Amino acid sequence: MASLNVIREASCAEGFCSLGCIAWLYRKIRGSFFLIVGSHTCQYFMQSALSVMIFSEPRFATAIIEESDLAAKTADFAHLELDRIVGDIVREYNPTIVFLVGTCPAEIIKVDLQNIGEMLTQKYGRPVMFAPVSGLEHTFTQGEDGVLQALLTISPEEAPGTARELLLVGAVGDLVEDEILEQLAELGIPVRGVLPARDPRRLPAIGPNTVAVALQPYLSMTMNALKRRGVEVLACRTPIGPAATRQFYEAICRAFGKEPPDRLVELEAEAWERIGPEREMLIGKRIAIIGDNLLELPIANLLYEMGAEIVELSTPYFNRKAMAADVACLPDGLTLYEKPDVIAQAERVIALKPDLTICGLGLANPFESRGLPTKWSIEFTFTPIHGFKHAKDLAEIIARPVRRGNLMAQRGWYVDQSAPRVPA
Ligand code: SF4
Repeated sequence: MASLNVIREASCAEGFCSLGCIAWLYRKIRGSFFLIVGSHTCQYFMQSALSVMIFSEPRFATAIIEESDLAAKTADFAHLELDRIVGDIVREYNPTIVFLVGTCPAEIIKVDLQNIGEMLTQKYGRPVMFAPVSGLEHTFTQGEDGVLQALLTISPEEAPGTARELLLVGAVGDLVEDEILEQLAELGIPVRGVLPARDPRRLPAIGPNTVAVALQPYLSMTMNALKRRGVEVLACRTPIGPAATRQFYEAICRAFGKEPPDRLVELEAEAWERIGPEREMLIGKRIAIIGDNLLELPIANLLYEMGAEIVELSTPYFNRKAMAADVACLPDGLTLYEKPDVIAQAERVIALKPDLTICGLGLANPFESRGLPTKWSIEFTFTPIHGFKHAKDLAEIIARPVRRGNLMAQRGWYVDQSAPRVPA
């Protein structure tokens, strides 16, 4: 295990609200509808961050808690209002599942969405599930953790005598999911299913003969909930990048009593070969990662494996146990800031002058204006990057701004402004 120096600064998490996870989950879970029980702020966030056009018929909406509702503040009131809205949704969209999405305002005034969901499930004959996705504590990818926990509460129990099978946990694009399933079939691994299932009416059964593995590093609450149901949870690297993907499949093979085949080493070598030019470009590059999506550790590992050096690393949330396999591959003595003080961090990064800074949208322009090439971290969330086949997409995301930075520096387009602070 690498010795990671973790500094917890307990500052505000600088990133999107966890409601952002609805952007990929409403597409992934077919027939679902996400009803956000929140404020005008939540609604504005969803409209502006997701930029979804009304004609694309997004399957999410916001039930807005007004000030007058706060005054009423009774369980009956919330129940009646949500009953009316869910009734409209059922008539108009006929969803297979409705998520009552808890937000900061709903949490603060203690709307009992759990209880209301149970009553509406009975009334409308389909699951109406409470999903705690408030932005109070969590970063945007962790919203998925809340939704998956809600799904777990309705996933059936394993029948006695069920064979030992693998459960993949985490939403990835359908294409990536199919590729992973194909690879597991080639390796002869019996697969129970995927959480979230594309069809929420066919959730995988859960029990002591389930062996779960996370596809994303931000699902610690779901993995703990699985453990409580007797599931064996594998500690594997997140399958992002050629080496991590090989190790991910090797760990699964071993868990199922199989010797990992040499083919995995070949697939890793082929993936490295495909990204040879990007790897060459990144050798010796100094990279800062200002985290906001919890993919920071897998990305840092990949960058090291590509020959780059991490000069600054932070994450909004660090769970040493859940991230142990990714931590183990980091170089010794690396410092990780958890919830860093953003101003102090920006000053460090400006002084360090890295060749590339991976950061959220809000910091990218101030860094660019100081001659520091950046990459929006959100691209790692919305691009297929898992598995052997997507190593090229992943490497390109990282290499493109370095290439652009080199070109701009050659042409003298960057102006080195050594102003000490990033504007608020
Ligand atoms: S859930 Fe909280 S953080 Fe997210 S948009 Fe609503 S009020 Fe803001």
